[in-house]
Amino acid sequence: MVSADAAKQITVIGAGIIGVCSANYLLREGFDVEVIDPALPGSEAQCSYGNAGGICPGSCIPNAMPGLMKNIPKWLLDPEGPLFVRLSYLPQALPWLLRYLASARKERVVEIADAMRSLHRLTFDCYEPLVKEAGCEDLIARRGQLFVYEDPQGPEKSAFSLGLRRERGVNFQVLNKDELRQLEPALAPIYQRAVYLPDQGQAKNPGRLVASLAEHAARQGVRFIRARVEGFELGAHGPVAVLTDQGRRPVERVVLAAGAWSGALARKLGTDVPLDTERGYHVMVKGADVGLRIQTLSAERKFVASPMEEGLRLAGTVEIAGLEAPPNYARADILLRQGRQMFPQLHGGEVKRWMGHRPGTPDSIPVIDVSRRHPNVLFAFGHGHQGLIAGSVTGKLISELAAGRPTSIDLRPFRADRF
Ligand SMILES: Cc1cc2nc3c(=O)[nH]c(=O)nc-3n(C[C@H](O)[C@H](O)[C@H](O)COP(=O)(O)OP(=O)(O)OC[C@H]3O[C@@H](n4cnc5c(N)ncnc54)[C@H](O)[C@@H]3O)c2cc1C
Repeated sequence: MVSADAAKQITVIGAGIIGVCSANYLLREGFDVEVIDPALPGSEAQCSYGNAGGICPGSCIPNAMPGLMKNIPKWLLDPEGPLFVRLSYLPQALPWLLRYLASARKERVVEIADAMRSLHRLTFDCYEPLVKEAGCEDLIARRGQLFVYEDPQGPEKSAFSLGLRRERGVNFQVLNKDELRQLEPALAPIYQRAVYLPDQGQAKNPGRLVASLAEHAARQGVRFIRARVEGFELGAHGPVAVLTDQGRRPVERVVLAAGAWSGALARKLGTDVPLDTERGYHVMVKGADVGLRIQTLSAERKFVASPMEEGLRLAGTVEIAGLEAPPNYARADILLRQGRQMFPQLHGGEVKRWMGHRPGTPDSIPVIDVSRRHPNVLFAFGHGHQGLIAGSVTGKLISELAAGRPTSIDLRPFRADRF
């Protein structure tokens, strides 16, 4: 039996944005926190390093939407399309893909949109104390977000998703070509319409955000251990130790926040969650200043252009090809070509390509839950396309669950056993 004080010990597996925010909030809750990860917080191995930086309280549009079936063949056949399934991986991915298709039903989409909005609406509130304490408030810019359309009927064709936002109180304005030009003159004049969401924002350097929050946590006493968790030693009430490539470490409670790698570890803990990697790419054009102020998404081509501390980042695409296959940087080159259409003034600059593993559930929402099997295990993974948005909120929720307090939002939609 552990003493009350010792029971405050908690081990977080994974030091991406989810693990690091959880560590910070657990620390605030009075826990003695250890974080285990072979990678450095904020380094390129993490999905949290290379994302587009969007921090969007109004993000409530699932990836799988009604009409998905109709678009899939077009996307799969288009080499420049936003979704690609590597044929050799198809048999492994099929169960996940079928669940993904099933989550595109209208009634389910509405439920998912509610869950996404409930989680994301608190993002800035939950980042605020963390970035303030860590002294990195400068990393968060709240300049809004733009969706731009080449098709003059674009916003009308997006009526369903705009309706989902409106019904959930998300503020937006539909702009014509002139209004767009006034707001964001850096964009090529190929865009006929736009939707502007003034309350969204972005991180100007997601890797530095994770690193800064981790450094702050370390200064406050969180121990960061460079090791890979390979398994667990189970006692009568759950794991009593994690088994790592650097040896055995005793644990009292565990938070599983290992991003796209969480599925295999959850299975070792007796919980099977459909989790796969939705591989994404970015091209960073270092030193490029095209004059972009507001993060901009091409509604038709499904990529994001983000003005970052170090230059312009073009990010996007989903590649279903598993955790092991080497990157196909041709997909990043597509982003650069598309970026040059968006910014004809984009010349020069050092180009750096990156691939990362989004931890994707088929229904676009994460698992934030206490294990039914082992009450000393908490799950915090599967944040897919929105982990940066949800990172701060997930951290707070995990600390509430660990402390046995009522949670800030209803966590039923995020249960591990919903699949
Ligand atoms: C191109 C692209 C654009 C994106 N844009 C956005 C955006 O604009 N806004 C947004 O909110 N989200 C965005 N995302 C998604 C976001 O980046 C992810 O949801 C988020 O980074 C997931 O964070 P995480 O901490 O769960 O995973 P990660 O950052 O991947 O961290 C997981 C950590 O677990 C560690 N780990 C793995 N296995 C083990 C093990 N066995 N033992 C110990 N540690 C282990 C890994 O080393 C890693 O450090 C984007 C993603 C991509 C790819």
